[in-house]
Amino acid sequence: MNIILLGPPGAGKGTQAQRIEAGKNMKQLSTGDMLRAAIAAGTPIGLKAKDTMARGELVPDDIVVGIISDRIEDADCAAGFILDGFPRNVSQAEALDVMLAEKGLELDAVVEIKVNDGILINRIEKRAAETEGGPRADDNAEALKKRLDVYHAQTAPLIEYYATKGTLRSVDGMADMDEVARQIMEVLNG
Ligand code: AMP
Repeated sequence: MNIILLGPPGAGKGTQAQRIEAGKNMKQLSTGDMLRAAIAAGTPIGLKAKDTMARGELVPDDIVVGIISDRIEDADCAAGFILDGFPRNVSQAEALDVMLAEKGLELDAVVEIKVNDGILINRIEKRAAETEGGPRADDNAEALKKRLDVYHAQTAPLIEYYATKGTLRSVDGMADMDEVARQIMEVLNG
C-alpha cells in the first residue's frame, strides 16, 4: 500500500508515519529528513538545499522529485511507502502521478491530517526544545511563519487536487496522538 500524509508543519506527519511504519510493512519517506541528512553529509544536494530550507522555503522541485523517484524503487519500499512531506505543491503532485504510472505503481490513499494554525506554533516550539542536538535550523518563529505561508499558498491546494481524484481521506489532527493513529489505521484498513 502506498500513501501520502498531507498536513501543515507540526501536524504530526513524521510521528504518525513512524507509527504506521512500525505497525505495517511500509517505509516512511520523508523528503525533509533526507534533505537534512544530505546537509549533514555535505553532499551537493545538501549544499544546494541548506539556505533555502533554513528560510522555510521550498527547495526546487527537480531535487525532491529526483530523490523520491530513486528512493521508491528501493527494495525496502516494495511492500509500500508513506510519503511524508512530498508532494508539497501541484507540480510535484503531477510529477508523482507521472513517475508512479511509469513505474507501474499506485497511490492507495492521501491522508490529510487537519490541524488549526493556532496550535502549530506551540507544537513546533515544543519540538525545538526537545530535539536532540539542538533545534532544526527552520524551527524558529520567522522560518515557521514562512513555512505556514508556504503551506497555505502551495501545499493546501493539494487537498482539492486529491479530493477531485477521489483519493483524499481526512483525520482530526487536533486529537491526541493515539486517536490520530487510530483514525489513520481505520482509513488504511478501509
Ligand atoms: P519537513 O521536514 O517536511 O518540514 O521539511 C523541511 C524543509 O525541507 C521544508 O521547509 C523545505 O525547505 C524542505 N522540503 C521538504 N520536503 C520538500 C518538498 N517536497 N519540496 C520542497 N521542499 C521540501
